[in-house]
Amino acid sequence: MFSISENLRQVRSRLALACAAAHRGVDDVTLLAVSKTCPAEAVRAAHAAGQRAFGENYVQEALDKIAALADMRAGLEWHLIGPLQSNKTRVVAESFDWVHAVDRLKIAERLSSQRPQHLPALNICLQVNVSGEASKSGVAPAELPALAHAVAGLPRLRLRGLMSIPEPVEGLGAQRAPHRELHRWFDKLVQSGLALDTLSMGMSADLEAAVLEGANLVRVGTAIFGARARTGG
Ligand SMILES: *Cc1c(COP(=O)(O)O)cnc(C)c1O
Repeated sequence: MFSISENLRQVRSRLALACAAAHRGVDDVTLLAVSKTCPAEAVRAAHAAGQRAFGENYVQEALDKIAALADMRAGLEWHLIGPLQSNKTRVVAESFDWVHAVDRLKIAERLSSQRPQHLPALNICLQVNVSGEASKSGVAPAELPALAHAVAGLPRLRLRGLMSIPEPVEGLGAQRAPHRELHRWFDKLVQSGLALDTLSMGMSADLEAAVLEGANLVRVGTAIFGARARTGG
């Protein structure tokens, strides 16, 4: 029977097995529950089952949900994981804790200048277009170092790391390849002096591959909340 708490229990046990296989501690990986298209009540149920971090793709839908759950705002961490247009940066800077899909300096500059002073710096991951990705979004690897250093210098942002959305493929070996590549770019940036701590990769279908390649934040929707009526992002 469909139950968010039972699904969460299963995802946590998948994560624990993957961490054991990777010789990593289970606390090393943060589970981000992707609640896009789900009602606020689903977030409430997941929170009651111990989940704290939630990911959303669509800005207006997310703002409605954040407002509906304002009574528990302090116990929730909201991550925008979908694409962000420049006309929406102000509401995002005012309402979210993290933004994962930044791939342009202009968006980062707007988020920094619009982040309210009473809030802590906004956590940022840069989306990288790793090899084999069909999507047009994400910064090209060749342009990543310059973008990362520029974003790291913005006063109201805290650059935390990198994220990617590889093409879905079957099989652990094929799933691992793009995650390994993102980890290599992450290491290069750390070697160049950036204090990054977040590798946001892996979803319902490939979280094991991502954990084996060093992911420390996995974004899981379907495996927690069930299949979505509306897809994409
Ligand atoms: C929807 C989405 C996810 C979750 O995908 P599932 O396959 O449902 O786990 C993760 N990351 C991003 C960027 C998404 O848009």
